[in-house]
Amino acid sequence: MDLLIVGGGSCGAVLAARLSADPTRRVLLVESGPGAAIPERLDTLPIGPGSYRTTMYDAQLSDTVTTTLVRGRGVGGSGAVNGGYFMRGAPTDFADWGSGLWTYEQVLPFYRRLEHDHDFGGPGHGGTGPMPIRRVPRERWHPLSEAFAQAALDAGLPWEADKNGGLTAGGIGPVPLNMDELGHRIDTATCYLEGRPNLEVRTNTTIRRLVIRAGAVAGVETADGAVINADKIILCAGGIGSALIMLRSNLTAGQTFSDHPEVAVPYVPSQPAARGHPLLEATLNLGEDLELRPYTASFGDAVPGNPPMPPHVGVALMSPRSRGQVTVDADGGVHIKHGYLQDPADKAIAAHGVALAQELIRTSGIGTPLEPVLGTSQHLSGSCAMGNVVDERLKSLEVDSLWIADTSVFPRIPSRGPHATAVMLAERAAELIG
Ligand SMILES: Cc1cc2nc3c(=O)[nH]c(=O)nc-3n(C[C@H](O)[C@H](O)[C@H](O)COP(=O)(O)OP(=O)(O)OC[C@H]3O[C@@H](n4cnc5c(N)ncnc54)[C@H](O)[C@@H]3O)c2cc1C
Repeated sequence: MDLLIVGGGSCGAVLAARLSADPTRRVLLVESGPGAAIPERLDTLPIGPGSYRTTMYDAQLSDTVTTTLVRGRGVGGSGAVNGGYFMRGAPTDFADWGSGLWTYEQVLPFYRRLEHDHDFGGPGHGGTGPMPIRRVPRERWHPLSEAFAQAALDAGLPWEADKNGGLTAGGIGPVPLNMDELGHRIDTATCYLEGRPNLEVRTNTTIRRLVIRAGAVAGVETADGAVINADKIILCAGGIGSALIMLRSNLTAGQTFSDHPEVAVPYVPSQPAARGHPLLEATLNLGEDLELRPYTASFGDAVPGNPPMPPHVGVALMSPRSRGQVTVDADGGVHIKHGYLQDPADKAIAAHGVALAQELIRTSGIGTPLEPVLGTSQHLSGSCAMGNVVDERLKSLEVDSLWIADTSVFPRIPSRGPHATAVMLAERAAELIG
């Protein structure tokens, strides 16, 4: 095999499509879960107990708070089960991304290449890429989104019409969504992958570790003990999966990662909420530090199998200073510690965000705020960071014939949700590795 891609998620599906466009190259995409999902509406997150499209991990968010992390499993990966929010990183996010290949000017053409933005054109947007981007127009918003937005505007916060427009000041405005015209989530497997004679997609196959000979990776070993040989190997197993494969191969990974803490501010609703809208239609972004998420449904309703729970506004720290660690013990046990809110600056920003969310819940009339609860945005990134584990061309710093191209290589988590930046990274990686 010329090229083996491990993990068919948000990034792996893009790389498999782009790198198999050369008909002389034989590409094998190996994915531990099932094949691509049938697109579902964005009012539902298919991540509840018993979902066959997820892998769960226990994690310690802080000294006192534990949680269950969810990762997408199957072709399409986390992008096939996520909220559909598709926001580019801010230009300043790329200051830490190496000296030359990943400046904002360098990555902008790849953000444009991946998308077909149905709302905005011009030189900053793409009109012919595979990923459809749409926003719900304000006149069609859920009453909750509208009331929250109006309260933010009344409080003097700015309107932000185009959250992919390259500005960092933020404001309240519609969320760009990877969504078709009927409101279905469109993941990278759906919009990039097509059948080709030189591309094999092997599902239900989990890779345990790399096979390393004389300082180069010669293949991979599956969970059943079978070996698959290949000339080049690209890990796209995600922020947790790629780190675990590296650690099980006695290579460096997992020493530091970042994620967006999300404090839920639940409330007693003043009236029952209608369903059928994307879970998140609008966000309030405050510079690069905070994002307030007025969800249109409670996670008890939006996640099949969840128990009833009150609706909430999410308060996410978008440039957290605290860092986490992924480790594997001698018995193969996985340990994930986020270290959330350890940094005093993170604590202060979270407290400010919670106070603002409580005020907007009251002034918008959507309900009466309850006690906040620490949680996570499920955006774990940077466990195999550029500079520590791979170079800026995404090649391993320790062994030959190995690249990593997924959210695990982010040097720092972007100040907006990671999905758009993941797909951009995969587009750029296809050029650098190909
Ligand atoms: C519930 C949820 C909601 C989210 N909502 C949003 C959102 O609305 N907006 C946003 O910007 N971001 C969101 N995110 C984050 C975003 O979806 C991810 O950051 C992004 O999809 C990660 O892409 P990836 O390619 O790095 O990994 P993934 O898409 O997770 O792909 C990794 C793939 O590798 C496979 N794999 C793992 N280990 C192995 C192995 N050992 N062998 C073979 N295959 C393996 C997995 O099954 C998976 O298919 C959300 C994440 C989750 C979990």
